Amino acid sequence: MGKVLEIRKVGEPVLQKICDEVDVKNINEDILDIIDDLKTTLKFGNGCGIAAPQIGINKRIIVVGAKKEEVSYNDAEDIPITAMINPTWKELSKETDVQYEGCMSVPSIRGKVERYKNIELTYYNENGERIVKKVNNFFARLVQHECDHLDGIVFLQKVGNNGFATLDNIKKYNLRNL
Ligand code: ZN
Repeated sequence: MGKVLEIRKVGEPVLQKICDEVDVKNINEDILDIIDDLKTTLKFGNGCGIAAPQIGINKRIIVVGAKKEEVSYNDAEDIPITAMINPTWKELSKETDVQYEGCMSVPSIRGKVERYKNIELTYYNENGERIVKKVNNFFARLVQHECDHLDGIVFLQKVGNNGFATLDNIKKYNLRNL
């Protein structure tokens, strides 16, 4: 049983660092404890996703999970609670959409962010097995949001003055630090 840990808030340096990869040949008790803490903290916070830096740990680990009826996205699906170690993704099409996002590290604020709709996701599970799967829509948005945390990016950096930023703008202005 994991612990409920304090969620780090936007502006804290730990949320702005590039996280270290986990040695997937050696997924030890320390890593499994972090995953347990992430799962418990996510459940306590009623979130859909959490990344290790949000509990102060700069490792490339995220946990996602959602019940379709409990989220306000009409393109959502049921996502079992899943720990992903060293997750990466690539877009499968250029198709994007813009929807509001929130984040446990950014209390009370939501903002519109452009994300790819169709991605291929690669990660390692708790047993060190490499998993590759295609995910779409809300699930794809969630993965992109959580993977951003592993690169020191909070969604606010992708929300422009006009309510949303395009992916082109993000590249153009090299948005990273708040
Ligand atoms: Zn977040």
